[in-house]
Amino acid sequence: MTATIINGVGVAAKVREECRERVKRIVAQSGTPPGLAVILVGSDAASQVYVRNKIRACAEVGIRSFRYDYLPDVDPGVVIDKIEELNQVPAVHGILVQLPLPPSFDIARILRAISVDKDVDGFHLYNVGGLVAGGTVFPPCTPYGVVKLLEHERIPIEGKNVVVVGASNIVGKPMALMLMQHEATVCICHAKTKDLAQFTILADILIVAAGRPNLILPQMVRTGAVVIDVGINRLKDGRLVGDVDFDGVAEKASYITPVPGGVGPMTVSMLLVNTIASCERWLQPPVQSAAARMPLLVTPN
Ligand code: NAP
Repeated sequence: MTATIINGVGVAAKVREECRERVKRIVAQSGTPPGLAVILVGSDAASQVYVRNKIRACAEVGIRSFRYDYLPDVDPGVVIDKIEELNQVPAVHGILVQLPLPPSFDIARILRAISVDKDVDGFHLYNVGGLVAGGTVFPPCTPYGVVKLLEHERIPIEGKNVVVVGASNIVGKPMALMLMQHEATVCICHAKTKDLAQFTILADILIVAAGRPNLILPQMVRTGAVVIDVGINRLKDGRLVGDVDFDGVAEKASYITPVPGGVGPMTVSMLLVNTIASCERWLQPPVQSAAARMPLLVTPN
């Protein structure tokens, strides 16, 4: 079997085209575009690139962006004050704090400062809780992008055995929860899992987000499985690779995502989707009850 290679660049481009249309409708209705505020602390090279890409993607679809840069030794209180100010700014519909933060920062405290109504990264405890309870959330962008890719390829999720390798708060855990909401049977593996292969071999859909090149070898994959590689690793020779032995596994899998060009492009696109969805929600007619102001349900569509 030779796998179909899932073209994340192409799907992401389609999502952005839909974003452009939605932004046009918003501007026609309200006169102003959606707005995303991006906060970057420190000068981590990868974070600089990610922030630049996010801001460029906003411009591509007509979202207004607001960028705030801080030195690594800034007092965390200054950043929290800025977040609280942005929570009140009507032109800002989404607030994103680029991770990782310097060690002096209490990340949970920073993320909690973001209004749940503007938490387009989906990392606030309220949104995390919503994901657990199967309720109303902004889906975290990377797992949201994976679900979108599966849906685009019309790969059924319901009733499938899904194995997620990686249990981080930003990828592995929300990924597992989102697929449980899609009625999959989900197993999560992590660095302390004994004999990883005994789990991965059972997967109809294998999602790998560990940050370890060549972690998944062909003998660990069931023939015909769908393999989604979230990992991004820079090798010593400068090459960018995922966590999966792409060439070997592509011989066994039915579908596989490449790195680069698979999940990566989807992450930024889903950030745009969440920002637009937030803006659309703010434009809804005023409502009376506090309950109706709860964060919106963003369904993968
Ligand atoms: P992370 O916070 O470092 O978490 C890595 C997870 O993988 C942890 O749960 C860890 O287990 C587990 N793990 C590590 N080594 C393992 C092993 N040998 N076997 C099984 N599990 C193992 O990383 P992350 O932020 O989730 O990111 C994971 C990867 O995805 C990275 O390569 C990152 O660059 C990439 N990423 C890509 C995108 C995208 O848009 N494509 C977005 C975000 C992240 P423990 O919990 O036991 O430590």
